[in-house]
Amino acid sequence: MIDTIAAISTAIGESGIGIVRMSGKNSLDIARNIFKGKVNEDLKEAENRKLTYGHIYNPEDGKIVDEVLIAYMKSPYTYTREDIVEIYCHGGAISVKKILELILENGARLAEPGEFTKRAFLNGRLDLSQAEAVMDLIRAKTDKSYDISLGQLEGSLSDKIDEIRNILLEMLAHVEVSIDFPDEGIEEVTYKDLKDNGNKVLLEINKLLNTADKGRILRDGLNTVILGKPNVGKSSLLNAILRENRAIVTDVPGTTRDIIEEYINIDGIPLKIIDTAGIRSTEDLVEKIGVDRAKKVVEEADLIIAVFDASRKLSSEDEEIIELVKEKNSIVLLNKTDLPNEYNVEYLKEFVPKKKVISTSIAKGEGIEKLEETIKEMFYSGEVEISDEIMVTNIRHKNQLMKAKKNIEEAIEGINLDIPLDCIEVDIRSCWENLGEISGDTISEDILDKIFSEFCIGK
Ligand code: GDP
Ligand code: ZN
Repeated sequence: MIDTIAAISTAIGESGIGIVRMSGKNSLDIARNIFKGKVNEDLKEAENRKLTYGHIYNPEDGKIVDEVLIAYMKSPYTYTREDIVEIYCHGGAISVKKILELILENGARLAEPGEFTKRAFLNGRLDLSQAEAVMDLIRAKTDKSYDISLGQLEGSLSDKIDEIRNILLEMLAHVEVSIDFPDEGIEEVTYKDLKDNGNKVLLEINKLLNTADKGRILRDGLNTVILGKPNVGKSSLLNAILRENRAIVTDVPGTTRDIIEEYINIDGIPLKIIDTAGIRSTEDLVEKIGVDRAKKVVEEADLIIAVFDASRKLSSEDEEIIELVKEKNSIVLLNKTDLPNEYNVEYLKEFVPKKKVISTSIAKGEGIEKLEETIKEMFYSGEVEISDEIMVTNIRHKNQLMKAKKNIEEAIEGINLDIPLDCIEVDIRSCWENLGEISGDTISEDILDKIFSEFCIGK
């Protein structure tokens, strides 16, 4: 017996309208209990996918709660494949909250995060990677990451995974025939076939894995930290880039409150700039969050922009920063070049060989374009521009692909060593299963729960 769930599906806050949504068998009955239509009195004639105008009221005291439109979507052609009722009320926090409370009092249960989408998955409307794409779509920071999520929602990744799994199935079938009919000389053919197909699988998995690092960055942003001692121009830099490229401002749940993140969009590359509380920049990162955490932030960064003041002599603080960024993917900015130069550039370059050093005068807006170009170059470094190829953006998918890769490599090794077919079969099957966890074809309940718990409520 599957219960009826309900949640507020729009963001809470001032807005034109708010939407409360129900899914499950009792959706329409619950709506009937709390709705009075102007023409269609109690939704008796609730037509599939038609809006009905009326009021939500509290059946206990007869008091009106809000003026609404209500939509009934009949199973099975709905998002969850169940009966869905959506109530469009006035925006703001109170109306949606009151309506939700009424719905809960009348027999629905509060939906867990992502539970609507989880039902869509369990009822076969979406596979797991498509369900995950729904969340990515909602969270997309740039047009590019939006496009990738949309493609994944449409099934581009699922189709690719299916294609690979079908090759594996074919391999398994061959193996089984050979095991069942050992005397008919097909074993030799089987080994040859396994080798060809095994390599094909490996190639396809590698192709997908090759997109994963870029994919992750496109989805989550290039983790960027601006480092430099006080007064070198970090805030000025951040403000200058933000002015032109601000993508979105978010509070990211789970991060401690004194760090927030800003998203900057540089030609489709999202930069997630780590921003310390109050002040708009990463300034005085070390002082602000302590040495250990600063080290960790630097450790986890994809890119560090280290800023130095060219109008002053190199100090021991600068050297500490150089030490921090030496081994990292970083760009060095020599700022305040409009002032008389006191800095020994050659000395700095010696410290950071192979690093890009860019001269800037942020105050005059000079060198910022060059910085953006350099970031783009680093991101696309020598590789083809991201086109319409399928990209792996999700770390879970990447992990599954890595497991599958190990399986198929072991299978290929076994084939090369002519080890018995039933041993090889085990690896092929594991490969098939590990890939199946991407689409959710083979997956455990706990992993599912974990995936959907990261969704937002009401989706
Ligand atoms: P932060 O402490 O590293 O964040 O540095 P700020 O961005 O707050 O800048 C410190 C001071 O340097 C401010 O007065 C800025 O106006 C100034 N400043 C920043 N960039 C330049 C520059 O390129 N040239 C000059 N002359 N001053 C700059
Ligand atoms: Zn500052």
